[in-house]
Amino acid sequence: MEERRCAGCGDAFWRRPQVPDQEYCGKAECRRARRRLWQRTKRQHDADYRDNQARAQRAWTGDNRAYWRTYRSGHPEYAQANREKQHDRDRRRREANLAKMASSKPLSSVPSGTYLLVPRDAQNLAKMDSLMVEITVLSER
Ligand SMILES: [Zn+2]
Repeated sequence: MEERRCAGCGDAFWRRPQVPDQEYCGKAECRRARRRLWQRTKRQHDADYRDNQARAQRAWTGDNRAYWRTYRSGHPEYAQANREKQHDRDRRRREANLAKMASSKPLSSVPSGTYLLVPRDAQNLAKMDSLMVEITVLSER
């Protein structure tokens, strides 16, 4: 028998003889920590596992429509925190899009001048109302 340090809690423990690579002690929280780490690693490196987990999650959610609704109404602070996190994600996405647009050049530049403005769905140009407009470019990005 060999004494080891638990990778979870740091306590000394005796390795089980049938588990040569044992890194965690037998405490429930350490077994859970080991399993979480295993799942995280598995999800990162195994696309099939990841897909299966996602499919099972969707199926479960589909069969238990009321679960999260009930949970959220019983845990308003959880629901509020989620709303705030989603709000942050939305804001970051908007800002990233704005930054992308600002850094890209305009698709085409329209020179200043006089233009005939015609409705887009004009069938017969002669019959359609149109406007003579003047466009003055003030600045180009
Ligand atoms: Zn432990």
